[in-house]
Amino acid sequence: MKLIDSHCHINFDAFDHDRVAVVQRAARAGIHTLVVPGVSRKLSQSTEWQNDCGAVSIIQGFGLHPYFINQHQDTDLDWLATTLQGDPAAFIGEVGLDSTVDHYERQLVLFSEQLQLAIEYQRPLVLHHRRSQADLLRLIKPVRSRLPVVPGVLHAFSGSFAQAKEWVALGFMLGVGGTITYQRAQKTRRALAQIPIEFLLLETDAPDMPLFGYQGQRNEPAQAAQVLLELSELQQLPPAMLADIIWDNTQRLFRFNQ
Ligand SMILES: [Zn+2]
Repeated sequence: MKLIDSHCHINFDAFDHDRVAVVQRAARAGIHTLVVPGVSRKLSQSTEWQNDCGAVSIIQGFGLHPYFINQHQDTDLDWLATTLQGDPAAFIGEVGLDSTVDHYERQLVLFSEQLQLAIEYQRPLVLHHRRSQADLLRLIKPVRSRLPVVPGVLHAFSGSFAQAKEWVALGFMLGVGGTITYQRAQKTRRALAQIPIEFLLLETDAPDMPLFGYQGQRNEPAQAAQVLLELSELQQLPPAMLADIIWDNTQRLFRFNQ
């Protein structure tokens, strides 16, 4: 079974002291590839972490994340454009809107600019949302036809079936992570049980979003295997079959050859 963690921050300093071991645990759990989004220019410019990841393949993205809004300069958008130009395999992300952190107006500006880069360079988007799905949809819908055929993924989907359907109607994938392991997340679990599997990706968001039973601990990519088991119960499909379909979905989105 070949799994892929479609969203993890293995480059974060939470993994600096034992990254090799974390990556090896992931490989042993069947995780073949890690998708690593970028969150800021500064973090993207340190690349030493890649030396620790020999046990897996890496797909990398670049973006200006709303959590780091105070760090982003206008010139970082030029850096992002140059980086995309130089790396045809790079996706745009993690970008988006988060109404629980500061400077929402500035977030809107930066997101709109990065949406334009997705059009200009024809790259998929990895979207962060928190109480912002309506605003993201409002900005994306008018330009949808100019985005790539598979335009992106709404990472760490949580919400209703109606919300999930809106994204799927635009061709977006939904990132399925640890949220579904919590019984209290009934609305999200019901939504993801009904969405066609062709639109689902597996993810951890490690080091964040620990699974049920691991609250307060650092999350890690190996846990994607647990998320798969939970999703296979929700979708009532055998894990191996689900894993194959999710692999294809991820490949369709990020257009990699593995
Ligand atoms: Zn993330």
